[in-house]
Amino acid sequence: MSTTERERKIPVAVLGATGAVGQRFVSLLAEHPWFEIEALVASPRSAGRPYGEACTWMQEGTLPPELAALEVASTEEAPSCRLVFSALGAEVAGPLETRLAEAGHFVVSNARSHRMDRDVPLIVPEVNPDHLKLVEAQSWDGALVTNPNCSTIGLVLALKPLADAFGLRRVQVVTLQALSGAGLDGPSAYAMTDNLVPVIPGEEGKLERETGKILGRLEAAAIAPYEARVSAQCTRVAVLEGHTECISVELAREVGSEEVAGVLAGFRAEPQELGLPSAPEKPIEVLADEDRPQPRLDRERGDGMTVTVGRVRPCGVLHHKLVALSHNTLRGAAGGSILVAELAVARGLVEGVEAPRAA
Ligand code: NAP
Repeated sequence: MSTTERERKIPVAVLGATGAVGQRFVSLLAEHPWFEIEALVASPRSAGRPYGEACTWMQEGTLPPELAALEVASTEEAPSCRLVFSALGAEVAGPLETRLAEAGHFVVSNARSHRMDRDVPLIVPEVNPDHLKLVEAQSWDGALVTNPNCSTIGLVLALKPLADAFGLRRVQVVTLQALSGAGLDGPSAYAMTDNLVPVIPGEEGKLERETGKILGRLEAAAIAPYEARVSAQCTRVAVLEGHTECISVELAREVGSEEVAGVLAGFRAEPQELGLPSAPEKPIEVLADEDRPQPRLDRERGDGMTVTVGRVRPCGVLHHKLVALSHNTLRGAAGGSILVAELAVARGLVEGVEAPRAA
């Protein structure tokens, strides 16, 4: 590869580019130091139209004119670039992502379709970067890597330092999840104003299963799940962005809540060491004020990639309780996936793609 090629940005495609998560991808990738958008893909309703017309832009800031003019592609044509981000619903994502991996693409997906497949890594870069090696066990010419459920990401980031330092036995979590987590066609204003909904179909099982896989141990060609028991209750609340989670934990040994808070605040991992472009300086920030974290005040911390933790205190049933907040479409979706791709590129796992030298 020549110097000029190495300094050129890496072309990427976004599937589901017109949706809530897709638009986050577009806004983050428009300014990304390593990646540049080559193709934007959506449903037959949008294909063939300029992106700016096909999508109702819901992000802060203006859509760059060159992206507004880009013709939306159909899922019938495979993108010509190697790296593909998927923000498709599970019904469409399942078969399409496998087809793209078979055809040699490196796919990073937000959909639930393949998260629990034996040979598919489910990655939060600060928590289980080593699980990326699972792609070597995949039989496709390309690869498929997944991003966990948006609430699982905030939960496992808060649990990882505790699992490493003290061991975890039992976890209880109650989530208060933002409206944007339900996509652009989520619940109506009438349903949500002066209200909350005490169920998000399928969500509790995802939190309970995915946590074990992510905190688990990589063995030959599969993950041995972490043994802790996890019980989740999920609710939808009238917040636009930012999932709040009230967490109680039983540790494998008894320690004081101050020690718990200290371990959380001191957490750093491989993305910080590598200085990856989307890695926040602090993956977890612990606040001492008793009325924090709050979604409106804390969700943008670390450009939406930091999990804010507060109210670390003793629990009368398990050992400790705390509140964690993470941005669901940044850390919990598009930003998290982009960080996964940066890690994969930095580790040399995306065939034919090198990290740009300038980065
Ligand atoms: P969304 O707002 O409903 O967007 C869905 C996207 O998929 C749109 O771009 C839509 O294109 C496209 N699409 C629909 N049917 C299609 C088809 N037949 N062929 C090709 N494209 C099609 O959903 P979202 O909230 O962005 O979620 C996307 C994925 O990310 C889901 O799997 C979701 O579970 C996951 N996720 C979401 C969040 C979150 O916080 N929202 C967090 C983590 C993970 P058109 O506009 O053309 O219809």
